[in-house]
Amino acid sequence: MDHILGLKCTICGAEYAVDDVAYVCPKHGDDGILDVVYDYATIKGRVSPIQLAHSPADTGIWRYKPLLPVEPDSPVPPLRVGWTPLYAAPRLAEPLGLKHVWLKDDGMNPTASFKDRASALAVVKAREAGAQTVTTASTGNAAAALAGLAASAGLQSVIFVPKTAPQAKIAQHLTYGARMLLVDGTYDDAFELTLKVAREFGWYNRNTAYNPYTSEGKKTAAYEICEQLTFTPGHSLYQGEGKWAAPDRVFVPVGDGCIIGGIYKGFRDLLALGWIDAMPKIMGVQAAGSSALVDAWERGLQGWEMTLQPANTIADSISAGLPRDRNKALTAVRESGGAYLRVSDQEILDAIPVIARNTGVFSEPAAAAAYAGLVKAVEKGLAAPEECIVVLLTGSGLKDVGSAMKTVVQPPIVAPNLEAVKAVMGRE
Ligand SMILES: *Cc1c(COP(=O)(O)O)cnc(C)c1O
Ligand SMILES: [Zn+2]
Repeated sequence: MDHILGLKCTICGAEYAVDDVAYVCPKHGDDGILDVVYDYATIKGRVSPIQLAHSPADTGIWRYKPLLPVEPDSPVPPLRVGWTPLYAAPRLAEPLGLKHVWLKDDGMNPTASFKDRASALAVVKAREAGAQTVTTASTGNAAAALAGLAASAGLQSVIFVPKTAPQAKIAQHLTYGARMLLVDGTYDDAFELTLKVAREFGWYNRNTAYNPYTSEGKKTAAYEICEQLTFTPGHSLYQGEGKWAAPDRVFVPVGDGCIIGGIYKGFRDLLALGWIDAMPKIMGVQAAGSSALVDAWERGLQGWEMTLQPANTIADSISAGLPRDRNKALTAVRESGGAYLRVSDQEILDAIPVIARNTGVFSEPAAAAAYAGLVKAVEKGLAAPEECIVVLLTGSGLKDVGSAMKTVVQPPIVAPNLEAVKAVMGRE
């Protein structure tokens, strides 16, 4: 991996050679999350926007392999991850007084959430490390993603999930044949447990943030957003050869903060390569019942000054009392000039049918939170009419049918005859 200079601690800035540390900065223990540092000059010599424009999209995230922390000849799992659709959403934009709102539909990934991006990379890294078994703690989606990607690559996986996770996520996971242990505790408890178990059993650990490559998988969505904005027929923001378009603002639902940190990393890569000209403002959206990062942002705290808070929200995928990628998550918003926003569970639930009815995209609560955050930003005057805005929809509504059912009215039951239908439809 001669395109990688090393791994840099997000607390002390110490840099390590890739082979010298396993996951975190030795000086800072489990909190010493590392950031992969690239040699952009080397990458520039290997890949360009023009080359990518001629490269097939059906390899998903692997079309960006020269920008990812993997060996060039490492085999990748067969399941197709990424290159998810970016839809223009004029009927969502208009009532908000906006002109250009786009939805990135990551529910279209193979296990139906954004987590596939990180798990695909983790599976490649696990195989590079010669591991037979991969493990992770998860609120549910990372579990399903790792189970699916591991199944496609023929790896074993053992996954720790809070026993309250939604049934659909547990069902996916078990069907993929992964070992699952339901933890009698919170996601934060499951996370701590996984650290101990992985060390004890010598398993490859995919835990979000703790494994520095998870955010590297997630950054691919930022690349796709820019490339898709540049070339979408009828909406192209083509900037000339060798350049991609960047949105003005991106709304990201935030739990552990790995997605938002990854999105920022992706844009930072593109700026460093000269492929985009400006950093989009990154807007982090949390559920009011799990808003540790909004608090820290408002109070001007650093990630390492944060402490565990209670977390309770219907949006299970963004329920995290002590967000694991808090350093990167705060940096993403601060350095990009974005903001953190809080939305209530009711606002999240209300957003599910609004998105569905105006775009056809069915979202789980955590994904809908991103759109609820856009509504909140407009109320607060934080989004301007002419801006190009992308809302990251991170997971499919099929992941949590129970929540969707809370947002709709039960259909009427009719006798199987025409008269009954006429009566219900109000026709004589
Ligand atoms: C995990 C997840 C998130 C939040 O990502 P973090 O990296 O934990 O901030 C948002 N939406 C969905 C659907 C997720 O699965
Ligand atoms: Zn450190």
